[in-house]
Amino acid sequence: SLPAASGLAEMGAHWIHGPSPGNPVFCLASRYGLLGPEAAREENQQVEAGGHPPMPSVTYGSSGKVLSPEAVREARDLFYALLASTRAFQGSKEPPWPSVGQYVRAEIARTVPTMAGGQEDARRLQLAVLAACLKLECCISGTHSMDLVALEPFGEYVSLPGLDCTFPGGYSSLAERLLSDLPEGTVLLNKAVRTIQWQGSFREEGDDARVFPVRVECEDGDVFLADHVIVTVPLGFLKEHHQEFFQPPLPERKAQAIRHLGFGTNNKIFLEFEQPFWEPQQQLLEVVWEDESPLEEPSADLEANWYKKLIGFVVLQPPEQHGHVLCGFIAGEESEHMETLSDAEVLSAMTRVLRTMTG
Ligand SMILES: Cc1cc2nc3c(=O)[nH]c(=O)nc-3n(C[C@H](O)[C@H](O)[C@H](O)COP(=O)(O)OP(=O)(O)OC[C@H]3O[C@@H](n4cnc5c(N)ncnc54)[C@H](O)[C@@H]3O)c2cc1C
Repeated sequence: SLPAASGLAEMGAHWIHGPSPGNPVFCLASRYGLLGPEAAREENQQVEAGGHPPMPSVTYGSSGKVLSPEAVREARDLFYALLASTRAFQGSKEPPWPSVGQYVRAEIARTVPTMAGGQEDARRLQLAVLAACLKLECCISGTHSMDLVALEPFGEYVSLPGLDCTFPGGYSSLAERLLSDLPEGTVLLNKAVRTIQWQGSFREEGDDARVFPVRVECEDGDVFLADHVIVTVPLGFLKEHHQEFFQPPLPERKAQAIRHLGFGTNNKIFLEFEQPFWEPQQQLLEVVWEDESPLEEPSADLEANWYKKLIGFVVLQPPEQHGHVLCGFIAGEESEHMETLSDAEVLSAMTRVLRTMTG
C-alpha cells in the first residue's frame, strides 16, 4: 500500500510547459539538477506538443461509460485544427470574429452537417467532446469563456517544444535554490508595498551626496530608496490600486493597458484515495457531459451546475511519492463560485461527478 499524500500539492504552477533549451525556467532547473531523468532526455525536449501535451488518458461520459478513444480523438483533432487555424488572423485588421470562442463555434456550426458521417448520436458525442475541449482551453487561457479571448492576437502565443515536466521536489525548489545563492536578508517576505514614488530625488537621512529617483514605501512603514524598481505585483492588484500605488501615476498608455487586460480564475481540486479506481498507466481522467454542445448557451445556474465546468483530473505522478491523488482543474465563474463553498460541499459534488462518470 502507498503512503498517504506526501503533502506536496502544488497550489499554482505544476508543470514546466515546453521544457527545452529555449525555456529559461527549464535551463535553470536543469542546471541546478532539480528535474527527474525523463526531463533531461533530449527526445522529450524536442516533442512539438503545441501546448497540448499528449498524456495517456481515459474519457468518461456522463452516461457512466468510457467513451470511444477514436470518437474522442476525432473531435479533439478537429478542435486543435481550429485552434491552429486562428494563427491566420494574426495582424489581421478585420478578423472574422472578435473572439476565439465565437470563431471556433462558428466553424464547428459549419462542420456540423458532415460531422461523424451525419450520424445523429455520433454527431452529438462529437459536439459534447468539443464542449469539453473548450473548457480545457478556458483552463489553459485562464478565462471564463473563450468568447473573452481576442481572436486576432491569439496566434502570438508561442508554445515551446518539449514534453511538460514537473519538479520532483515541487516548483518551489527552484525559488529556494535561487534564494540560496543570495546573501541572507536579500529577499524580504511579508513586506507589502504601499506606494512607489518615482521620477523623484530622494536622499538617505544623513547622506546628501547620493540621490535616488525611486522611493518604495511599505505597509509597515519601512522605506527603501533605489535607482530602479522592477514591479511584478499581479494585474488584479494593479487594476485596483495603480492610481495611488504609483506616484506620479503611470503614463496613460500603461494605465489603459492595465484597464483593458483581463484575466480569469483557475482552481485546482485535490482528491486523495486509499485505492485508485483508475488504471496505473492512466495520467488524465477527462469528463464529458454528453448532453452538452458548444453551439448551445452554457447553463447560467452556477449553484446547480458549477461542477460541470470541471475538465477532469490529472493523476499526480509518481504515486510512490504522492499517494493516489487526483488533481481536478476548473476555470471561470464556476471556479469562483466553488470558492464560496465549503470543502464538504465541493467533495460531495466531486463524489457525484465521479459516480456519474464511472457508472
Ligand atoms: C491553478 C493554477 C495552475 C497553474 N499552473 C501552472 C503550470 O503548471 N505551469 C506554469 O508555468 N504556470 C502555471 N500557472 C501560472 C503561474 O502560477 C503564474 O503565471 C505565475 O505564478 C505568475 O507569476 P508572477 O510572479 O507574475 O505572479 P504571482 O505568482 O501572482 O506573484 C505576485 C506576487 O506579488 C505579491 N504582491 C501583491 N501585492 C503586493 C504588494 N502590494 N507588495 C508586495 N508584493 C505584493 C503577491 O503576494 C505575489 O506573491 C498556474 C496558475 C494557477 C492559478
